[in-house]
Amino acid sequence: RFPEPRPRRGRSRLIVLAGPTAVGKGTVATYIKEHFPEILLSVSATTRPPRPGEVEGEHYFFTGELSFDRLIESGQLLEWATVHNKYRYGTPRGPIEEALAAGRTVLLEIDLQGARQVRQAAPDATLVFLLPPSWDELVQRLVGRGTEDAEERERRLRTAKVELASQNEFDYRVVNQDVAAAAREVVELAKASAPAS
Ligand code: 5GP
Repeated sequence: RFPEPRPRRGRSRLIVLAGPTAVGKGTVATYIKEHFPEILLSVSATTRPPRPGEVEGEHYFFTGELSFDRLIESGQLLEWATVHNKYRYGTPRGPIEEALAAGRTVLLEIDLQGARQVRQAAPDATLVFLLPPSWDELVQRLVGRGTEDAEERERRLRTAKVELASQNEFDYRVVNQDVAAAAREVVELAKASAPAS
């Protein structure tokens, strides 16, 4: 089976960064936030409890299950998904719409299911798939960060295999060999996709 053809795309300041587990999406997104402050990095809502050092409203909006249900029911999320079969994550619509209306570029760092929903909701959005330099490198990164036990790692690697197979659904692919270089590439793609002002 061939993938669905990508709908014809216009220009947009909305850019989505997705990719398999442990590829370094979060690191690239944080680098962009720090070095390209003109770009708004969307803050997601999540049912996951905060990790030490995470700040409400900066890293995430931490919500309970019921509050998350309410965000969905009231249509306040542009997309949402259950990630790694565990917690729910979603993109609040309001801040994004405001920023786009003000002519800012907005970056979403979300999972693959979320990226697919954004493509439906905002077909003009630019979808970037972040790739590891190699499969072995991905395995090394997941083992190296040591945040998952062996069983969870196996599960994430199975998911990563499936996710890597979806890269053709994206507009662009960026290899994360070097964080700064990958970040610059994403920013360039965002600029090149923005409407002429
Ligand atoms: P973590 O719990 O490590 O912060 O994030 C786990 C995963 O959730 C990451 O792969 C990240 O891309 C994804 N994620 C974070 N926010 C969102 C969101 O708003 N929507 C979706 N679909 N995925 C998200």
